[in-house]
Amino acid sequence: MNPVAIRFRQDGREKPGVWLNGQAYDVSALVEDWSGTHLENLQQQLDALDVGTLPALPANAQPACPVGGVRKILAIGLNYAGHLAEMKAERREDPMLFSKAITALAGPEDPIIIPRDAEAVDWEVELVVVIGRGGVRIPREQALAHVAGYCVGIDVSERHWQKKRGGQFIKGKSADSFGPVGPWLVPAGQVDLHQGLDLQLSVNGQVKQRSNTRLMLHDVPALIAHVSTFMRLETGDLLFTGTPDGVGMGRTPPEYLQPGDQVTARIAGLGEQHHAVVAETP
Ligand code: ZN
Repeated sequence: MNPVAIRFRQDGREKPGVWLNGQAYDVSALVEDWSGTHLENLQQQLDALDVGTLPALPANAQPACPVGGVRKILAIGLNYAGHLAEMKAERREDPMLFSKAITALAGPEDPIIIPRDAEAVDWEVELVVVIGRGGVRIPREQALAHVAGYCVGIDVSERHWQKKRGGQFIKGKSADSFGPVGPWLVPAGQVDLHQGLDLQLSVNGQVKQRSNTRLMLHDVPALIAHVSTFMRLETGDLLFTGTPDGVGMGRTPPEYLQPGDQVTARIAGLGEQHHAVVAETP
């Protein structure tokens, strides 16, 4: 394995680190953060580190989102045929795009908080693309050169707020803790999208979603080309690429997350998240 980027929380601040062979190291003395030019040149930054000389993480460190300086969270809907079928949705020519509030962003071990008035909080494991070099109208052929790396993400969704509160999706996608990302940011050059990555999500040890990113209807280059038609992509922007089938709403009867549940999400080569589901405290 090669070193990958992580971030951690310590004394109320988030700081950069690296993960190698089961060990986490603190790089905050050498790297300002995994943001800006450090993200644009992620692989070179990681290559320049002499990991053997780095200090271990402090004992009170907590895992944080591995990307710093995030300014947009964009997300694609209905990008796997199985999910389209379970949501009884029609296939469209263009990808469906929505956004999540930036305050939904969370770390890979943070609790998923059920908001006080929520009734239908659902899971969606997704490959998250982290933009390195920004741009507009990025051609499909050049799109992968704009990717810094990839992470596991869960597009946590309150289905009633998403669908029945007057529109738009952002209402159901944006509560605190609804966007956990991590544990690792794996540089683009270390990820073989052509081969495809297995992704899986479990609730209380029961596998709910199991698929492969190869089955996306619109692949990552197509998504970057499409989204950058409408807006400028910037370094640190996150693009959730859609979820496969197996979400709670697609089940008979529907299943939603409850306080006390445990959610595990993983993508091959990108690490694993663990979340306790908790009720919002007054
Ligand atoms: Zn989603």
